[in-house]
Amino acid sequence: MKPLVAIVGRPNVGKSMLFNKLIGQRLSIVEDTPGVTRDRIYGESEWCGRKFRLVDTGGIEPRTDDQILSFMREQAEIAIQHADVIIFLTDVKTGLTASDQEVANMLLRSRKPIVLAVNKMDSVGAPNPDYYEFYNLGFDEVMPISSVHGHGTGDPVAVSAVHGHGTGDLLDACVAYFPDEEEAEEESDVLKVAIIGKPNVGKSSLLNRVLGEERVIVSNIAGTTRDSVDADVDNAHGKFTFIDTAGIRKKSKVDEKIEKFSVMRSLLAVERADVCVIMIDATEGVTEQDTKIAGLVHEAGKAAVIVVNKWDAVENKETNTMRDMETKVRQGLSYMLYAPVLFLSALTGQRVDRLFQVIQDVHAQNTSRITTGALNSVLADATARVQPPTDKGRRLKIFYMTQASTKPPHFVIFCNDARLFHFSYQRYLENQIRAVFGLTGTPIKITIRQKGDKEDV
Ligand code: GDP
Ligand code: GDP
Repeated sequence: MKPLVAIVGRPNVGKSMLFNKLIGQRLSIVEDTPGVTRDRIYGESEWCGRKFRLVDTGGIEPRTDDQILSFMREQAEIAIQHADVIIFLTDVKTGLTASDQEVANMLLRSRKPIVLAVNKMDSVGAPNPDYYEFYNLGFDEVMPISSVHGHGTGDPVAVSAVHGHGTGDLLDACVAYFPDEEEAEEESDVLKVAIIGKPNVGKSSLLNRVLGEERVIVSNIAGTTRDSVDADVDNAHGKFTFIDTAGIRKKSKVDEKIEKFSVMRSLLAVERADVCVIMIDATEGVTEQDTKIAGLVHEAGKAAVIVVNKWDAVENKETNTMRDMETKVRQGLSYMLYAPVLFLSALTGQRVDRLFQVIQDVHAQNTSRITTGALNSVLADATARVQPPTDKGRRLKIFYMTQASTKPPHFVIFCNDARLFHFSYQRYLENQIRAVFGLTGTPIKITIRQKGDKEDV
């Protein structure tokens, strides 16, 4: 897993501008899903040969001046839960504020590696004297000793997101805290599962169900207003870690702000997960928010299981009720026809035990590797059965197909002219691959290359 760097800071300090500078290029996605803002707040980049992931925790906030502090607390909490390194961004123009101080304390208590950055240091040469004020946050005293892996200095890093000054120093400081590459790449046999869905769909109930008697709390993160907990399950179906996605529980009704944060929490949980369980409320059907949340999973290329919860609460069920409901769910989430749909009740426990096996199945598909030989014999059969298309007398010729990577399975097809490779023919080949290799429960990615294209994929 590539290290995750999170940018935290007050509104208007320049988080999104810095994010864009550090990412530089747009994230490549499996397929466009309308309405999903993932690529504005989450992306991947590389510095000094180290690939990393970057998230702007403020990227989906409404711009309001009130509640800045509670906003920042939630951002910081999300970052503490998920990030390997946190960039705490401040603004030399406004100087050090009380909320900066408060959030800095919270971040420091978490004992996560934190890099303090002072933005809007636009002029080169002698630094703006206001910069020195940021030493008052005390990072230079705490960071060198509190970090787990790193050896940072804790000095505030002067940057100008607008001009790009200092971003190299900033990334150097982040990379110093990254875990060793081997450590980061280590594959484990524990499946990471994120149960996601809108508030009140039944995530906590399902989590409690699957944990049952085996509840083991693995991580308590200090310094947060609510402890975030990932939970381990070890049973006949395998070993699983369920990533906490419930977030802060407010007594009042869920407001818009919380909803945005629940998308952020979902996003980061999805990124960490091997398999995502997307929960839909049977009594409501697929809502717009469900479509967005499921879109995050699809765009991330993760294996997915759709769970229709509260099946017990659906009245007057008849023979076709389940089938009709499945059809509606599929229409609502039409971009992920590959995901199995499971009807259950977290409340009564009905069919919950089947979930583990389905999770294992979709994970196996998401990580499967198919030999080049097998792929090319399927390709030969498929092109013999349905001839590749022609355009103005020129016929598409497909030379070769190979699998480039997994999670999700990514296939590269080499041909004479990519323009002749119509979407419908690509769909046809995709369906052939899915059918022959049993890849029915995972997104797959296909890249078309033509003669003369660069080799790298
Ligand atoms: P966010 O709310 O933290 O994401 O902040 P934005 O990235 O939206 O930036 C807020 C404002 O600060 C915008 O008007 C930016 O143009 C400005 N800004 C961001 N970075 C810099 C910088 O390095 N120098 C200056 N002078 N302005 C900046
Ligand atoms: P979360 O916000 O997604 O974590 O949802 P909760 O697990 O807190 O559940 C929200 C409400 O839905 C609670 O009142 C639950 O008792 C109820 N609930 C959860 N699962 C089911 C279910 O399968 N059937 C019924 N009838 N109610 C459920």
